[in-house]
Amino acid sequence: MIAAKSYAAQSATTPLGPHSFERREPGEHDVVIDILYCGVCHSDIHQVRDEWGGSIFPMVPGHEIVGRISRIGSQVKDFKVGDLAGIGCFVDSCRVCNSCKEGLEQYCETHLSQTYNGYEQDRKTPTYGGYSSQIVVDEKYTLHVSPNLPLEGVAPLLCAGITTWSPLREWKVGKGHRLGVLGLGGLGHMAVKLGVALGAEVTMLSSSASKEKDAKRLGAHKFALTKDPEVLKGYSGYFDFIIDTVSAQHDFDIYLNLLKRDGTLILVGAPPKPNDFQAFSIIPKRRRIAGSMIGGIKETQEMLDFCAQHNIVSDVEVIPMKEINNAYERVLNGDVRYRFVIDMATL
Ligand code: NAP
Ligand code: ZN
Ligand code: ZN
Repeated sequence: MIAAKSYAAQSATTPLGPHSFERREPGEHDVVIDILYCGVCHSDIHQVRDEWGGSIFPMVPGHEIVGRISRIGSQVKDFKVGDLAGIGCFVDSCRVCNSCKEGLEQYCETHLSQTYNGYEQDRKTPTYGGYSSQIVVDEKYTLHVSPNLPLEGVAPLLCAGITTWSPLREWKVGKGHRLGVLGLGGLGHMAVKLGVALGAEVTMLSSSASKEKDAKRLGAHKFALTKDPEVLKGYSGYFDFIIDTVSAQHDFDIYLNLLKRDGTLILVGAPPKPNDFQAFSIIPKRRRIAGSMIGGIKETQEMLDFCAQHNIVSDVEVIPMKEINNAYERVLNGDVRYRFVIDMATL
């Protein structure tokens, strides 16, 4: 077994602290990744605090992982020792259901092994995430990372990047579309960058007036303060798509009314409490509300390659491991520009 160091939560009400555990020895198809950086996603906070229910403790969070391969199994074909590698939100799936066969492993119909707060395919070995020194993963669930981008900025692409990329590609958002991005946090800032790179006209819909300058710097063409009803009136029936990244409960109605006929509200934010909406916010204009979860391995690789080509990374604040509890508070207070990333050398 491989002795791993980490930070873990022992329960939903205790802060994260140092924790030791063992990773499996690499099997024939596994790579061992020495983790260099791990992003801090709002989903880590939801799960550490058991806001979605069913959390498994001890929990080592982290699913925006970038590192370097230090060992490989005898049958590994696609990676060699010394390669950079990324791991996103899952480390395995059944591999035989229709979704897995279509490269949509995130929607595995049998059992998805989340990177943490989940179980391996045996359904009894808990998975532990990226706030740790190493991770051992089958090469099929491992991504190639370009050496040409700053690695700390690449880490958040493994969740915030792919979660916004996947629906933008699914709905073919691009030139000629008006895209609204609701919530300027980790996911939101990636949605702006990717939406702009794909050719859409992007409007930042934010509750924070202080983020207007940043939104424009990130590439947004317009900024609308969602707290100001007069501003929102000007966007009535305006958007083809709104990608909703908000992490807390909110009513859909004011945003649904910003959609054109046949417009789609793409929900990626996952508040623990239900969001409300009126039937008449969608019926008269045949509007839609759709959900989307992370992305498959193939499209995650496509997103990473696209970002390498277009020089796109996340805007990050690198923190030492011991700052993690404070970083969680700062995320909850909206004080993050726009992703915390842990430097694993500080573990
Ligand atoms: P984040 O960095 O905290 O950003 C969330 C943003 O939502 C904030 O910056 C804020 O933007 C806005 N917001 C927060 N509270 C609000 C409130 N009460 N009212 C209105 N706006 C509010 O979080 P994140 O890491 O981007 O994650 C966002 C959500 O997506 C989380 O719920 C997370 O669990 C979920 N998620 C889903 C998937 C998926 O596969 N679907 C993947 C990853 C994460 P403004 O200040 O601009 O208003
Ligand atoms: Zn995430
Ligand atoms: Zn499957």
